[in-house]
Amino acid sequence: MAQLIRCISENGGVLVTAIDSTEIVEKMLRIHRTSPVCSAALGRLLTAAVLMSANLKSVQDTLTLRIKADGPALSLIAVANGRGEVKGCIGNPDVELPLRSDGKLNVGGAVGADGMLTVIKDLGLKEPYVGQVPLVSGEIAEDITSYYATSEQIPTVCALGVLVDVDCHIRRAGGYLLQLLPGATDAEIDRLEKNVAAMQSVTALLDQGMTATQIAMLAMDGFQPNLLDEQSADYRCDCSRDRMERALISLGRKELEQLQREQDELELGCQFCGTKYKFKASEILKTL
Ligand SMILES: [Zn+2]
Repeated sequence: MAQLIRCISENGGVLVTAIDSTEIVEKMLRIHRTSPVCSAALGRLLTAAVLMSANLKSVQDTLTLRIKADGPALSLIAVANGRGEVKGCIGNPDVELPLRSDGKLNVGGAVGADGMLTVIKDLGLKEPYVGQVPLVSGEIAEDITSYYATSEQIPTVCALGVLVDVDCHIRRAGGYLLQLLPGATDAEIDRLEKNVAAMQSVTALLDQGMTATQIAMLAMDGFQPNLLDEQSADYRCDCSRDRMERALISLGRKELEQLQREQDELELGCQFCGTKYKFKASEILKTL
């Protein structure tokens, strides 16, 4: 299972969150049968969501990342909670695009650069927190960095990577967030910049056999970091028959009567895990 870890520098000025999300993205691939570029796009968004969820205070809290842009992938959603569980979906999982000139999958081309990234944090309060920023490139890591700079005023370096094998399987996936908290000194910022500039891509580091903790330690080279916490993370959907039924009920009597006339047997598929639920409109109507 994926391990999600957080390290903090001795004086509390630098926080690093890191994950090897290979298993999470592999599970996503099995559910959504994404094309390579869509595996990279949704895989990066899932990785970002689970990294960001490490800072949630309670296990019930949820964090949603939603991207709506002008690319052929249409829209992408990733939802993570305080238990390290994450799920996601993509509007069009079949996008095929030529590789970029540097040989990488064209994630920005699939997602689109003209659009918005929305971050919704449900922290159990009356209203969820909603932050929104225009996309920088649709490559996702840059968009997350921009979100933190604009909406949360936290200087952040975000690195995300999904390496898709020639047979379309996920060879490696992972990422890290490096964040400056109040108390970071100029010397520390210089040091971090040098560290980040010297680091290889996350997938290259994972491919060399490094763990999430080792990657975090590499980013914090020269500091005396302490491991704050470590938790397991997984792709998991929390859908249920009850929840689907409530969604049907919310359509209202008129709509349900219309469905009953057209096709009483209803089959609803969960957009996050593909589980199918069967209902009869006539039976739902009886409960109203
Ligand atoms: Zn589900």
